[in-house]
Amino acid sequence: MSGTEPSPNSKAMRLSGWGRYTRFDCRVLRCEKMSEFEHAANERNGSTLIARGYGRSYGDAAINDSGFTVLSERLDRILAFDEKTGILTAEPGISLASLLDVFVPRGWMIPVVPGTKFISLGGAVAADIHGKNHHLEGSFSKHLLSFKLTDGMGQTHHCSRDKNPAFFWATVGGMGLTGLISDVQLQLQRIPSAFIEMKTVPARNLSELVDSFTQYEDKHQFSVAWVDCLARGESLGRGILMLGDFAQGHSHAWNPKAPLSVPLEAPNFLLNQLSMGMFNELYYRLPRPEIQIVDADRFFFPLDRISNWNCMYGPRGFIQYQCLLPPGPDGAKGLERIFKTCQQENLPSFFAVLKRFAKAEQKEFATLSFPDEGYTLAIDLPGDEKLVGLCTKLDQIVLEYGGRIYLAKDSMLNADTFAKMYPQAKAWQDVCAKLGSDRAFSSHLAQRLGIRL
Ligand SMILES: Cc1cc2nc3c(=O)[nH]c(=O)nc-3n(C[C@H](O)[C@H](O)[C@H](O)COP(=O)(O)OP(=O)(O)OC[C@H]3O[C@@H](n4cnc5c(N)ncnc54)[C@H](O)[C@@H]3O)c2cc1C
Repeated sequence: MSGTEPSPNSKAMRLSGWGRYTRFDCRVLRCEKMSEFEHAANERNGSTLIARGYGRSYGDAAINDSGFTVLSERLDRILAFDEKTGILTAEPGISLASLLDVFVPRGWMIPVVPGTKFISLGGAVAADIHGKNHHLEGSFSKHLLSFKLTDGMGQTHHCSRDKNPAFFWATVGGMGLTGLISDVQLQLQRIPSAFIEMKTVPARNLSELVDSFTQYEDKHQFSVAWVDCLARGESLGRGILMLGDFAQGHSHAWNPKAPLSVPLEAPNFLLNQLSMGMFNELYYRLPRPEIQIVDADRFFFPLDRISNWNCMYGPRGFIQYQCLLPPGPDGAKGLERIFKTCQQENLPSFFAVLKRFAKAEQKEFATLSFPDEGYTLAIDLPGDEKLVGLCTKLDQIVLEYGGRIYLAKDSMLNADTFAKMYPQAKAWQDVCAKLGSDRAFSSHLAQRLGIRL
């Protein structure tokens, strides 16, 4: 470890991302107060730092095993809320779950939520998260009004579209590498109820699935598809498209069920192609009403019903490979090649989700932000010695179609491929250098991608 310890409060901790594929011995600093968080950059004594929220990024984005990992989850206060405008200001460590508990019953919603509510506000900004409504609402940054950024020299900047816009855009999607985010100001949205009118559309193969997206997408606020990656031949890419809209005429009752938990790390053999093939077949054929009213918690966060479902992959862990492919026939061809490649390598995904993205809001500035027009496929792949080889092949396919990988999910990308997928990273590095953050903030991800020492 370089430098000396910035605080006697640092502790040793073994950390991993949500996929538990690789684990790292780290020194962590748990901040109890905002002042400790903001001063961490001043007191780092030559060590590098990375902020960590709830560790829901799948790989090594929130891990610094050569400096300090700064834990933010106790910085969880709501600082201000204007009931008339819906403008919220909160500390970075508050979870979306806590915010939803407070604001949904009052008729307000976080405009963009990911597939889990157990993430921090800081993590949402740093990954510029997307939800099931990107085609209408864009990514998280579209609703983000401002935040404070403490840079590598310990200076704090107020950042918005008007104030320090270069720092604002480098930070959204910047994976914590521009500095420490605090005082997040977000525009909430009014909702008619806490219920969703959900429509399901089965698709017998990839071409039907892609057509269904095109046919229905703009007519609904939310869309996402489950894909059966084990289906082959004529059924390749079959799935179920789920469409949703906030329901009128229902209450704002918000009573998320306490999650169940997996008592033990499951043995490796539990999830295999045979058991998952049977599950997928049953799930695909499950009779379901075409339209139903479901509570919003169940619609947005089905996986949160089991708190540690990531342990179901056993000691080997898993990775999530999430890529962006272009819209239209090129994207569909790319998806087909990805499904076939996983099957040929005998490593098909047990869980896959497909979404559509609209054009990015500020593509030229938000250089590391992931979403842009096209399809995004997220596939869970169990830990296996063949994973590196498979991901290298998948990366080549994604590159051929001009796509890229979502850094918040990534565990595998190398520096060369990253540079091709994110050609504007050089301009982003220049902004980091202006902030003095290039030498102060680093993560295992950043080192792997060759953007930090
Ligand atoms: C089940 C599941 C479903 C998901 N679905 C989606 C989805 O639909 N869409 C989507 O976009 N993502 C999705 N994600 C990914 C998740 O939303 C992001 O990885 C998010 O960043 C996690 O937030 P966190 O608080 O856990 O952050 P961490 O994992 O702890 O950190 C993520 C990044 O944020 C940085 N960071 C955190 N706090 C700060 C701060 N205060 N200042 C500076 N940097 C900070 C870290 O340095 C790191 O680079 C999903 C994850 C899971 C586990």
